[in-house]
Amino acid sequence: MKLKTKLTVGIGFLFIVILVFGILGITSIYKLSTNTNKILTNNYETLVYNNNMLKALEELPDNKTAYTEFENNLAKQENNITEYGEDEATKLLRKNFEELKLQPNDSSNYREIRQAIQRINNMNQNAIMRKNDIAQSTASSAIFWLTVVFTILTIIALTLTVNFPDIIATPIKALAEGITAIANKNYSNRIHLKQDDEFGDLANAFNIMAEKLDEYEHSNLAKIKFEKSRIETIINQMKDGIIGLDERKHILFINAVAEKMLGLKEQDIIGKYAADIALTNDLMRRLLQNDNHTELKIYADNKESYFNKDVLTVSNDAQVIGNVIVLRNITPFHELNEAKTNFIATVSHELKTPIASIKMSLDLLENKQIGNINDDQKQLIDSIKDDSNRLLKITGELLNLSQVETGNIQLSLQPCSILEIVDYATNAVKMSAEQKKITILQEVATTNVLVKADKDKTAWVLINLLTNAIKYSYEQSSVTIRVEHESNNLKISVVDKGVGIAPKYLDKIFDRYFKTPNSISTGTGLGLAISKEFIEAQGGIIGVKSSLGKGSEFYFMLPS
Ligand code: ADP
Repeated sequence: MKLKTKLTVGIGFLFIVILVFGILGITSIYKLSTNTNKILTNNYETLVYNNNMLKALEELPDNKTAYTEFENNLAKQENNITEYGEDEATKLLRKNFEELKLQPNDSSNYREIRQAIQRINNMNQNAIMRKNDIAQSTASSAIFWLTVVFTILTIIALTLTVNFPDIIATPIKALAEGITAIANKNYSNRIHLKQDDEFGDLANAFNIMAEKLDEYEHSNLAKIKFEKSRIETIINQMKDGIIGLDERKHILFINAVAEKMLGLKEQDIIGKYAADIALTNDLMRRLLQNDNHTELKIYADNKESYFNKDVLTVSNDAQVIGNVIVLRNITPFHELNEAKTNFIATVSHELKTPIASIKMSLDLLENKQIGNINDDQKQLIDSIKDDSNRLLKITGELLNLSQVETGNIQLSLQPCSILEIVDYATNAVKMSAEQKKITILQEVATTNVLVKADKDKTAWVLINLLTNAIKYSYEQSSVTIRVEHESNNLKISVVDKGVGIAPKYLDKIFDRYFKTPNSISTGTGLGLAISKEFIEAQGGIIGVKSSLGKGSEFYFMLPS
């Protein structure tokens, strides 16, 4: 039965019971009141009239008003005939009274009147008794039925009080437990309510929902598992080392390459705090350092490999949920680069000897003892000399570069006067400055000119800066070499008033092989890159300030 029907039937039943109880009560009280009223009007009043008539009879025949009194009460009695035989007795009383009026001194009339009144009185007293009995029985019956109805109502009310909360609460409790289970992702939970009402329908609907959620969860889980194993396969197939960390830096996954590099097994470190592992693992310590895009040289699997560390941030809805450390295997590039450096070093080294011999032959050609040369030949010899000088410069730069790239910069640091280096470099570029009528000025703003440096390399750098300054200056201008102190460093600047450099190229100017577009340079674009390596190897810094069209200032600082 539906809950609605149950409630309707229950409340309807209560309504009917209340109605019956009310009707029964009202009818019983009405009956009682009617019976009492009847006794009062039908019989009690007759007794009063009769009593009045008896009193009036006492005063007859002397008191004439007693006739009237008797007459009035008799008339009232004649109008209040209610009992069987009362009419006859009243008529007899009338007849006797009429005779008394005619013969007031006849005592038999008095006796007969009294007897008639007595009969009427008896009849009414009996009626009162009878009616009282009826009222009593009506009251008893009302009490009985009211008690019966009251008892039934009490039993029903008690039953409802005991059972009704359970009827509502039991299924609600079962539903609440089911919903809690769903909230806890326990989709296999079902509600078992064997009720054919709204709660039963609700439980069925709930079970269908739980089944659907269960199916969805399982299909989703299968999908997620499939995706997970696919990603795991991809990660494990990669040649790069990959380590996944959550937002609290606990290790989530690590692929085979990273396992080999770290010398650790996945099952031993999964879920562990990466910093704890770093305590006993140098490589992990380096991986956790905040130096993205750094190159790492790792010895694993009996060979040296090079990796580029890249830390990627994993985020969800703009919230960082972890990191992936990618160790890109750049060993093949390294090997190729090494081969290139070796090749350059060998070629430039091998070229130096024939170029030197060409230069020597040219010097011999110019010697008058060998023979005279005409002007055209002289021009040709000069041009070959220029080219071989340039070739020598290029091979020298390439050799320096191979030194730099292999990390083999041999430094011989010793205290030396920067002024000696400045003079040496000025002399070296004197000829090319003169060719462009450029004056080289020196501004020395310090007395402490001692610096701890590699003389040859520092001179090489200064010559390179001066050569560039002259190359990119206009004719008849000047180039200034400034020597000054800055903090604990000696700063040497080469200032020109030449073409200058556009701001967008300033951060690339020290890159290898870089030349500004439309540069008049016939060089390799290596000079500044090598200069930077040489200065930094000595613990110094190198920099540039420039303004396009106005000139440039290249400077380096060395610890003094
Ligand atoms: P290069 O052999 O081309 O001179 P460098 O490394 O010495 O190689 O210089 C790189 C580039 O920097 C040059 O090609 C030139 O464009 C720019 N450059 C260097 N010095 C100056 C300077 N003093 N004024 C303007 N541009 C310069």
